[in-house]
Amino acid sequence: MTARAQNHPLGIAHPRKVRLRRKQIDRYREVAGDAIVDECRELAARVRGARVLELSSTATGGGVAELLSSLVPLGRDLGIDVEWRVVTGDRAFFDVTKSLHNGMQGMDIAITPAQADEYLVHNEQTASQIGDHWDVVVVHDPQPAAVRSFIPESDAVWVWRCHVDSSAPCAAAWEFLRPYVEKHDFAVFTLPEFIPPNIGIPTATMVPAIDPLNSKNRALPMYLARQAVGDLGVSLERPLMLQVSRFDPWKDPHGVLEAWRIARSEFPDLQLALVGAMAADDPEGWQIYESIEAEIRDERDAFLFTDQMGVNGFEVNAFQHVADVVVQKSIREGFGLVVSEALWKGAAIVAGRAGGIPTQLRDGESGLLAGDTEDFAARVVELLRRPDLAREYGAKGIADVRERFLMPRLVRDQLKMLAELVGR
Ligand code: UDP
Repeated sequence: MTARAQNHPLGIAHPRKVRLRRKQIDRYREVAGDAIVDECRELAARVRGARVLELSSTATGGGVAELLSSLVPLGRDLGIDVEWRVVTGDRAFFDVTKSLHNGMQGMDIAITPAQADEYLVHNEQTASQIGDHWDVVVVHDPQPAAVRSFIPESDAVWVWRCHVDSSAPCAAAWEFLRPYVEKHDFAVFTLPEFIPPNIGIPTATMVPAIDPLNSKNRALPMYLARQAVGDLGVSLERPLMLQVSRFDPWKDPHGVLEAWRIARSEFPDLQLALVGAMAADDPEGWQIYESIEAEIRDERDAFLFTDQMGVNGFEVNAFQHVADVVVQKSIREGFGLVVSEALWKGAAIVAGRAGGIPTQLRDGESGLLAGDTEDFAARVVELLRRPDLAREYGAKGIADVRERFLMPRLVRDQLKMLAELVGR
């Protein structure tokens, strides 16, 4: 470790072990079918005992945390020795990494030498603390992407798992990250079109999935869902439009507000709920939350909820059950787990044509895709006017998710990857 890292005034970056509740793959037989669970078991037998480290930047809020909360315990249940650690960081570090995240999604950014230093010091510190007894290390997203560079002698196979839409990254972000990323043996992206141009290591793709047995996605009797939403002050007598997302510019919460205002000219009773978890690695979240709060100060029918008010998985589940229309107005999106989550509840959905959304939602079959804000508002009004159509889409959405986007399928894909890497 350099003296710079040792002497860093923050005493930073002890990668923290994430503690998780147990999960059992056999419990998924009923919802996902025997065949996929049997396949998981067969693959797991080939990699039993493999020591795997998943390294990410937050244990709460956002899709990566959601995925690892299920993948890690299910991996353990299948005999893999898997551990999940999160890189702890301070505000300055997460400002840099959020900027890199935005840059990888195409925003014009610049990384100053001081920011580069901040980023590397944290990564170096993490590298010095994770040990080198792993067979495979999976590094998620840009935050810990340089860790591998600080362990040059490692015997592990290193995988960089990129969850963002990196199809057209800003040059400053990609040229900064690229040398670190290319120290990995392998990179995994959500969709083929996200693989950045001229990456110099082998790549593969893997599509995320939702966990049908966690409190967010479990079957919920309607009366309980209605109670939970009603208790939060939302009227159950009037229509409700919902977006569940981090407060992030790519999720366009201001655009949602505008679409709601337009839709209200047709449905004056329409309420809006924006439900957003605050991810520990996303310092932009509160800023955006506050700007929206200021904008709706005089609105009786617009609601903002966060996990800090105790609005968590169960409440998100309840909202997705109760909403008359769910929107996901993303401009850029990695996958957008929330879309599969809402489809799984049979919700009527209008979503942006961004990233992984069209992979999940078939336009005019399981929901509607929309373009600009006017278009969004028009589609929202269309679904509110046609509950019959909404129900038809909902039934197809449930079937699609059951077939393609449930957790055992992702466990299977992950095990296939491990079998290939450990067998090398
Ligand atoms: N989420 C949540 N509570 C909220 C907002 C979001 O639990 O108030 C969850 C959401 O249900 C989903 C994840 O955070 O599981 C977001 O994943 P997604 O892929 O949609 O977007 P990301 O945040 O990773 O960009």
